[in-house]
Amino acid sequence: MRSRAGTSRPGGPGSPGGPPGPPGRSQFEGLAARALHCPRCNAAMPVRERLLLVLPDGELHEYLCARCLTSLGTRTTRDVPDPRVVP
Ligand SMILES: [Zn+2]
Repeated sequence: MRSRAGTSRPGGPGSPGGPPGPPGRSQFEGLAARALHCPRCNAAMPVRERLLLVLPDGELHEYLCARCLTSLGTRTTRDVPDPRVVP
């Protein structure tokens, strides 16, 4: 997604909604495949990501252990960058 190349003017007409954030924000998109500790395998295992449900503001994904398919956690991805920091 490099369609925003050249957009260096903060608050310009090409950026509706939301203040322009730092360009390093999108690094989390590349972390789809990672390893999580599985209590069953007792090791850090690669995970499979499964789409659980679609929310109005994003998607809820579930991480499953690639070996025993134990649920290792969930993650919510948002289509729009949210300036709020929700713990
Ligand atoms: Zn496992």
